[in-house]
Amino acid sequence: MRTLPKRTRLPRKTKKHLTSETNAISASADPKAEAKRRWPTVRNAKWFNPVVTKLRQLAGKGGRCMYCSGSEATDVEHYRPVAAFPKESMNWENYLWSCTACNRKKLARFPPVTEPGDMIINPLTENVWTFFFIDQFGLLTPNWDSTINGLNARAVSTRDILGLNREAVNDCRLARLRSLRTCASDTIKLFKNGTLSRKQVERRIALWLREPFQPDVANYFLVGPGSSTTPFSTLLAIVP
Ligand SMILES: [Zn+2]
Repeated sequence: MRTLPKRTRLPRKTKKHLTSETNAISASADPKAEAKRRWPTVRNAKWFNPVVTKLRQLAGKGGRCMYCSGSEATDVEHYRPVAAFPKESMNWENYLWSCTACNRKKLARFPPVTEPGDMIINPLTENVWTFFFIDQFGLLTPNWDSTINGLNARAVSTRDILGLNREAVNDCRLARLRSLRTCASDTIKLFKNGTLSRKQVERRIALWLREPFQPDVANYFLVGPGSSTTPFSTLLAIVP
């Protein structure tokens, strides 16, 4: 998981189609069955394409999964599942971009709404770094919640339901962390001995942030709370 840009608006035509789908589902005697029946046609409709394009844009270069940041995503994911929330199945605000592995793990596993929010963190509306940090082993780890004197409950359920530390993802996260740390240390050395200018350091950082390989790591250590740890704090102090 990583922080993502704000959701952008859909073209009017697509929005109109989605509203009419929602109205039909709401008017049905069995909204759940109606939503399930309509979804495959909607997903393949030409007017639906802007949804996919916009979700890909929000996910950044490489279109990585909004949950695990690991694989290239291919699925329009219903944040609130169709089975439990059929009337939200055609709602743009309810769509995320996910890989098949995360989508399958989640399915309809979505604990009931509890205060102060749904049990799965929404990476498009919430700052994931208030819930998680990335530790030295590349594990996405829930923050401590002093109000309950325990790990943040929403972070724990998000991590466990989606399997955000499954082996394939964790291996990649650790590899990216090691490589980013080496890149940062080397760049600091090259700047200090005059080989690289401030501008060149800045360009390198921008490039690492766009790199589609496990982008949650760069997001956490270059713009998130991890930027106050070494060697990243030293590196970021070079650029204004
Ligand atoms: Zn995923």
